[in-house]
Amino acid sequence: MIKRFSYFILVLLAKQAAFCQSIDKIINAQEVERIERTLSSDDMRGRKIFTPDIDRAAAFIAAEFKKAGIQPVKENSYLQEFAMVRTTPVSASGKLNGKTLAEKDIAVISAKEELSVNQASGYKQVVIHARDTFPVMLGRLQHTDGNYLLVVDTAHRQLFERIRRGGRSQFSPKGNIVLVLTNEEAGEYAIQYKQTVAVMPLKNVVGILPGRSKKEEYVIFSGHYDHLGVGQANAAGDSIYNGANDDAAGITAVIMLANYFAKQKNNERTLIFAAFTAEESGGFGSTYFSQQFNPDQVMAMFNIEMIGTESKWGTNSAFITGYEKTDMGKILEKNLKGTGFTFYPDPYPSQQLFYRSDNATLARLGVPAHTISTSKMDSEKYYHTQEDEIETLDMKNMAAIIKAIAISSTSIVAGKDTPTRVARESLKR
Ligand SMILES: [Zn+2]
Repeated sequence: MIKRFSYFILVLLAKQAAFCQSIDKIINAQEVERIERTLSSDDMRGRKIFTPDIDRAAAFIAAEFKKAGIQPVKENSYLQEFAMVRTTPVSASGKLNGKTLAEKDIAVISAKEELSVNQASGYKQVVIHARDTFPVMLGRLQHTDGNYLLVVDTAHRQLFERIRRGGRSQFSPKGNIVLVLTNEEAGEYAIQYKQTVAVMPLKNVVGILPGRSKKEEYVIFSGHYDHLGVGQANAAGDSIYNGANDDAAGITAVIMLANYFAKQKNNERTLIFAAFTAEESGGFGSTYFSQQFNPDQVMAMFNIEMIGTESKWGTNSAFITGYEKTDMGKILEKNLKGTGFTFYPDPYPSQQLFYRSDNATLARLGVPAHTISTSKMDSEKYYHTQEDEIETLDMKNMAAIIKAIAISSTSIVAGKDTPTRVARESLKR
C-alpha cells in the first residue's frame, strides 16, 4: 500500500515537472519581452485609434495569432472591422405649430446627411418632460432603431446642446431621431436638417481555437491594444504614451495564451482570443465584439489589464475585479492551489475597476467577465503618462502572471467548471 502510494506520488511529481518544463518553454520572460517590446515601441506611437499607428499594432497581433496557429475570426482575416460615425451639423430649420424654430433648438441623431421630416413622415412622437431622465429614455429609443420626433423640455437644455453639437464618435444610428427643444406640445411640424457624416473605421483583432467537444461554449481571453497616442512632451522631451503596461501587457498575455493553448490542443471549449480597440475612448471595440455572438454561449471572460508591475502583495500574485459578482474567482483560486500563484479579490473597490475595462461590456450581458490585473491603482506612478514604458515593467513576473492565468483557467477551458452568471440588474449602467 505504502509502496504503491509513493509510486503514485512519484508519477504525479514527474508529471508536474514535465508540465512545468513545457509551459515554461512557451510562457517565459524572453517571449514576454519580444512581444511587449514591439507593442510598446516608439514606432507604434502610442497606438491611438483612428491613426495608422494602431493599424501597425493590429497587423503585428494578427501575425502573432497566425503564427500561433489559431483560426481567423473571418474567412482569412483576424481583423474584426467596423466603423463609427462622427456627425457635425451644417444647418437646421423648421416650424412647429406654425412658429419658426430657432436653429439651436433642433438636433438630429442620424447617419443621413440630409433629413426632411414632417408629421406625415410617420415619426413616432415622444415627449421628454422636465422630470424624465433624458439620457435613459434616449438610450432606450435609440435601441429600437426606430424613427422618432422627440419634444424635449427646456429643462434639459444642457444635454440637448451637447447632442446638437455632435462631433462625438458613435455607432452608426440605424433610425433617425429628430429632437426639438420646446415646452410646446407638438402638433404640425416640418424640419429640414443637414450635417456632415465622417465614417471612422476601427478594428478588433480576434482569433479562435475551436473546442474539441464543447464547440458552442466559449471562453474569452482579452485585452485592449489601443492607447493614448502622442501628446505633450514631458520634461525629458518624450511625447509618446507607449502604454507598455496599459495595455500592451494584457495583449502580450493574450498572444502568449493563444500560443500556449494552441500547442496544448486539449481545450474542450472554444477559446476566443481578442485584442480590443478603443477601450480608452468608450469601449467601442468590446461593444462591437459582444454583438457578434450570443452572450449566453460565453462561459467565462478573462480580461487582462496592466499586469506588468508587481501587485501590492509582491510577485506571483494578481487580483480579480468584481470578485463577488460570480464564483469564477473561487474556481481560479482552486486551480491555482499549490502552484505558488495567488489571485485575490480587487483591493481597490472604490476605484470601480470592474466597470473601467472591457469586461464590463460582457458582464452587462450576464457573462462571468472579470479583469485580472496587478496594477497598484492607488500608487501606479506611470499610469496614463509618457513614462509607461517597458523599462518600468518586470518581464519575469509578467511571465509568471500569464502562466498563472493559463493554469487558473484549466478546469473552465476543459469544460469541467462553469462560473455562475453575473446578475445583470445588479450592475451600474
Ligand atoms: Zn487599460
